[in-house]
This record gives sequence, C-alpha cells and structure tokens, in this order.
Amino acid sequence: MICPRCNTENGNRTICSKCGYYLYRADAQNRAKMTRKQLAVSDAKIAGKKAGKIFKYIWIAITIIVMSFWLVAGMVYLMSLLG
Ligand SMILES: [Zn+2]
Repeated sequence: MICPRCNTENGNRTICSKCGYYLYRADAQNRAKMTRKQLAVSDAKIAGKKAGKIFKYIWIAITIIVMSFWLVAGMVYLMSLLG
C-alpha cells in the first residue's frame, strides 16, 4: 500500500515505514490478507487461550480434590485419636 502522505510503498504494512502514517482502514478491501502461517499462529493463540481456560478448571478441580483429601485424612486422624 502506498502512503497517502509521503508516497512510500509499504507493502502489507498498516503503518508507513517512513512517516508513521496509519494506513489501515476498517473496510475489508484495504485489510492485509493473512497468510496461512499467520492464520495458523492466530488459531494457535485462540486454541492456547481455550486450553488455558480448561487448564484453569483442571487446576481448580485438583486443588479441591487435594483439599478434600486432606480434610478426610485429618478427620480420620482425629477419629483414630478419639478411638
Ligand atoms: Zn508515509
């Protein structure tokens, strides 16, 4: 894309390399098309976010299991103390 301010060719850049003019426009025609690799990277990021959420839930579940295990273990110990 050619910068309207200084006429520098910027390829797929969204900001002019020479004067910093903002080249990106909201309409789809001016939007730089994502390459397969870029798409894969953004997909991986989205998948990573989802995996992070799942991991969070798994971590909470493990914490609850461990906590309840210690509670039960403590109760069993107290019971054995009381006879
Ligand atoms: Zn420029």
